[in-house]
Amino acid sequence: MKPQKAAGFQSLNEGIGVFNAKEKHLLIPQMNRNVSHLFAGALRSFDIHARVLETCRDLDLGREYTSGKECLPCLITTSDILYFLKKERNRLGEDFNPDNYIYCMPESDGPCRFGMYNKYQRIVLDSFPELRGVKIGSLTSRDGYSLDGMLEGESIWKFRKAAYFGILVGDILNRIAWRIRPYEIEEGLTDQFIERSMRVIADSFEANGSENNFDRILDHVEEIIEEGKTIIDPAIQRKPLVGVVGEIFIRSQNEANQDLVKTLERHGAEVVVASISEWVNYTSYNRMRDARTDLRLNIKQLRPRQVIRNLKSIFDFGKNFYYQQFMQTRSYKRLRSSIDIAEDHKVAHLEKMLDREDVFSFDVGTEACLSISGLIAYAGQGFNGVVNVYPFTCMPGTVTSSIAKPLMNRYRVPYLDTPCDTGLQPGREGTVRTFMYQVYQHFKRNGRKN
Ligand code: SF4
Repeated sequence: MKPQKAAGFQSLNEGIGVFNAKEKHLLIPQMNRNVSHLFAGALRSFDIHARVLETCRDLDLGREYTSGKECLPCLITTSDILYFLKKERNRLGEDFNPDNYIYCMPESDGPCRFGMYNKYQRIVLDSFPELRGVKIGSLTSRDGYSLDGMLEGESIWKFRKAAYFGILVGDILNRIAWRIRPYEIEEGLTDQFIERSMRVIADSFEANGSENNFDRILDHVEEIIEEGKTIIDPAIQRKPLVGVVGEIFIRSQNEANQDLVKTLERHGAEVVVASISEWVNYTSYNRMRDARTDLRLNIKQLRPRQVIRNLKSIFDFGKNFYYQQFMQTRSYKRLRSSIDIAEDHKVAHLEKMLDREDVFSFDVGTEACLSISGLIAYAGQGFNGVVNVYPFTCMPGTVTSSIAKPLMNRYRVPYLDTPCDTGLQPGREGTVRTFMYQVYQHFKRNGRKN
């Protein structure tokens, strides 16, 4: 592929947005293997050809079209989409039609650079005339990732529910892996089991997602849990518990974070990482929260039209948020009767804890408010150590770091920062080992409360 002068700026309006995905190939970045595949399975049940992109196969492709100053997830996702399209064009030859593809690149409102990835990637794709027809499907946190417009009206609520459930069950599958792997009877069994299980559950989503038959999907998850429990060696004592927070892409993708979870496990930890549903819940919660703030202001200023608009927003975002939280609570409750995976955080509870500490605020926004409150939650739950993982120079990541260090010192909980870039961090193993020594000291003094 040879780059040429990019198309005009109108492409930023016409080539990015929400597009009807029926019968299209919807390309999903692999932010987390399990979550992305189950999410794709849910979408396939609605006749969308959802495909998960391979990741980190050729980062040089991304390096060629970035300056080195972009965030690491931007480089990785740029590489991944270029890698896919190059392979697809080679595979299909003359039959390759860019209009058949929608590349899914969500965005987030706020000061951080995530809001610009899709625009940047639009410019990169436009520099190849043969790729200008590839659309960028951009879901936004401004409407709580509503998915409106991706399908015909009548199925959109079912579609949204299935998509959220795909993310939720993907998170649960990760938690099952983290619960089993440190205690596996033979090295490597858990990874093979999880890969197999992920495919079984993705098929279940494809069969049951569009009908929202979630109990059937949970039946399959229960079956795989029973199989997974046979991998656990009951003779191995429970290990110290380490909680991980941080930038969502990097903390969720093993390839990007230098396999942080496995490194911690190798040094004797059981690990729990903040979930992806937590972010989805947060966006709905935050939009509802913003609408409530606006409502108070508009009532004071006697603006009836805006008041009605605010009430509608509170209802719409509230409906999503409470539904999501209900499904989360119900699913964890059912599955935790089979295996003691860690429960997920509740966003409203995180906000309360943050307010109590008075070190940061949901009013400031960004992932920092979830990461800092997540650390406080882990400390309160008796975790033996906590880790913050983020791309090198990430703004919310460095804000979290500056607040979390003294805070965790006060809680007397070992804390580790793990910034990541594309290079191998040569000191990573050493810092993890030192951190894990402190974690063991904490474990000896306090034991495990979970
Ligand atoms: S959260 Fe960090 S890595 Fe993600 S876009 Fe913002 S600054 Fe970049």
